[in-house]
Amino acid sequence: MKKKLLIIKKFGGTSLSNIEKIKKAAKLIKKEVLLGNKVVVVVSALGKTTDKLQSLINKISFNSSAEEIDTILSSGEQASSGLMALALKNINVKARSFLGWQVPILTNTSYGKAKILDIDSKILKKEINKGITPVIAGFQGVSNEFRISTIGRGGSDTTAVAIASKLFADRCDIHTDVEGVYTADPRWVRKAKKIDKLTYDEMLEMASVGAQVLEPRSVSLAKNNNIILWVKSSFKNVQGTKIDDSTKLEKRNVSGIVFSKNDSKITLLGIPDKPGVAAKIFGSLANEDINVDMIVQNISSDGKYSDLTFTVPQTDLFKAKKCINRIKDDIKVKNILPDSNVAKISIVGIGMRSNAGIAEDMFKALGKQKINIDLISTSEIKISVLISRRNLKKAINVLHKTYNLG
Ligand code: ADP
Ligand code: ASP
Ligand code: MG
Repeated sequence: MKKKLLIIKKFGGTSLSNIEKIKKAAKLIKKEVLLGNKVVVVVSALGKTTDKLQSLINKISFNSSAEEIDTILSSGEQASSGLMALALKNINVKARSFLGWQVPILTNTSYGKAKILDIDSKILKKEINKGITPVIAGFQGVSNEFRISTIGRGGSDTTAVAIASKLFADRCDIHTDVEGVYTADPRWVRKAKKIDKLTYDEMLEMASVGAQVLEPRSVSLAKNNNIILWVKSSFKNVQGTKIDDSTKLEKRNVSGIVFSKNDSKITLLGIPDKPGVAAKIFGSLANEDINVDMIVQNISSDGKYSDLTFTVPQTDLFKAKKCINRIKDDIKVKNILPDSNVAKISIVGIGMRSNAGIAEDMFKALGKQKINIDLISTSEIKISVLISRRNLKKAINVLHKTYNLG
């Protein structure tokens, strides 16, 4: 007899944008239940609900209290968990909705970007043993102040993996509007191909440099707890992308091309070249909790001045400019040039560890297209470059071709 499995199935907002889609997802869940497997469902809010709630918040105040914002933002998942439970019951699958506090999913008090501290599995296990499919509202939890918290945008992937880990699930399926992880965003590259398998590290790099399909924290959590992750379609019963470490030893060069338009560049011109200046600049940015990603410094030919260029998240650009302005006289910078018309494009693959030619191919291919590279950063299995945003589409497609990914 085939072993019965415990499977976590997460459905994202893009694939729950209307009632027909919710019904389709419910049928997919029923299929698994009919095979005799136990299923725990995690849902995010319908379609663009969370964005709409955020824009309502913005109309009142940008500095509202984080606790109240979380109360508002989490409401999208309350509706979707109820609707999914209803859709399941309608097709004779025993189901029950759960909000974060009802599980409970305990978080710290960093509202808006809370960390999951613990999940109580008692009630969930009881329901599962009774043959009931829990439908858990993703993205939310409860703090020890007994307030609702949210865990950061895109966070229901993390909810799903955290539940999988707590329940020792056999696998965690992340269902979305595409059939898996592709060699590049299929919305941007027509010839992008679905990837069958990725290692945790490859997926982590892809997610952290912009492949929206999985939230980066969910991948690290899966890696740390050895949870087998699948990215799959919400609508079709086709094989998706498996993420685990079973392909660690395979020789692949570049697995995917990823881009992000979430960064801005700041150039500081004419800073006297003295020790301690960089520490002052990056120290004051760090004090404001601003993450600096790519950095380059050019020294003038007489060695007296330097120009410093770095990137910050676009959402922090205003804060970063204010911060630099505050220390402007101290560091004696001549000119500050912010630029948001940039994009970061990255190539990711485990083969990069041992193949130095890969970077050269990237720079040559971009050079041939007269695409200027502003900044470069690398990790063991990733190379990122910052380019002008108008060249983004051309660059992705050129690199996709360069590494024969189509
Ligand atoms: P969900 O609502 O299911 O969480 P997301 O919008 O967060 O969905 O993620 C799915 C989207 O990620 C896809 O529609 C696709 O456009 C985008 N995406 C970006 N890069 C990739 C990639 N390399 N492979 C697959 N999808 C990608
Ligand atoms: N609904 C939340 C968001 O839009 C969480 C998620 O989709 O994972 O960010
Ligand atoms: Mg998502």
